[in-house]
Amino acid sequence: MNQLKPLIAANWKMNGNNALIAEFTTKFNASVIKDVDVVVCPASVYLESFKRQVSANNSVIQVGAQNLSDKLSGAFTGEISTEMLSEIGIDHVIVGHSERRSLFGETPELVAKKYQTALASNITPILCTGESEQQRDAKETFTIIANDIDAVVDLCGIESFKNGVIAYEPVWAIGTGKSATPDQAQEVHQFIRSHLAKHDEEVAAGVRILYGGSVNEKNAAELFKQQDINGALVGGAGLVVEKFMSICQNA
Ligand code: PEP
Repeated sequence: MNQLKPLIAANWKMNGNNALIAEFTTKFNASVIKDVDVVVCPASVYLESFKRQVSANNSVIQVGAQNLSDKLSGAFTGEISTEMLSEIGIDHVIVGHSERRSLFGETPELVAKKYQTALASNITPILCTGESEQQRDAKETFTIIANDIDAVVDLCGIESFKNGVIAYEPVWAIGTGKSATPDQAQEVHQFIRSHLAKHDEEVAAGVRILYGGSVNEKNAAELFKQQDINGALVGGAGLVVEKFMSICQNA
């Protein structure tokens, strides 16, 4: 991990409830986690109450959304706009998670639009990118990732990465218990940083690149020792407060 402040984010997906929110708020309050940005992304129905609880407790936890619409308002049943997220004080949002790309057909262009929409409301987008096992076997990892990043650079400009975060999430490592090795992750993180550096070295050096894919309390420390890994996006282990706190402490 280099000198950038680490960011550890939990993606609860369609899991969690009020009891888990209360547990996270209470246990984080009693802990001494500092010098790390902690973001928890519950399902949208819980965003407002979670945000209220962490604010009332002056908690280290920041609340993030898992998705947002690329549209600002209108007849888009079931969608949530940046204005709505801003109104309740949400400051992070995950965009382009592999489940959104594979199950909901989100293209790199749509994800880039969502990234742009979030930034326009001063919400920090966490841009997910990563290859499938088949793509890795076909040696397409760098092409896939460059394509996802270039879609954002084309639409929003390289400067947009001053206010965004990237999460490298190999699809084969998500929810499988089979994390990338620290070396495998570092190789891709380094590629991402050097790809951005072709546009702007300063922006590349300043962007936080998280690793996601079966991160847990046991493998986090080794991953965080890598030069270009600046934190983690955590699924399963982010639902168990002790595991998630341990990952935060390792950062
Ligand atoms: C994720 O869904 O973004 C994720 C990384 O999940 P897990 O940690 O469970 O692999």
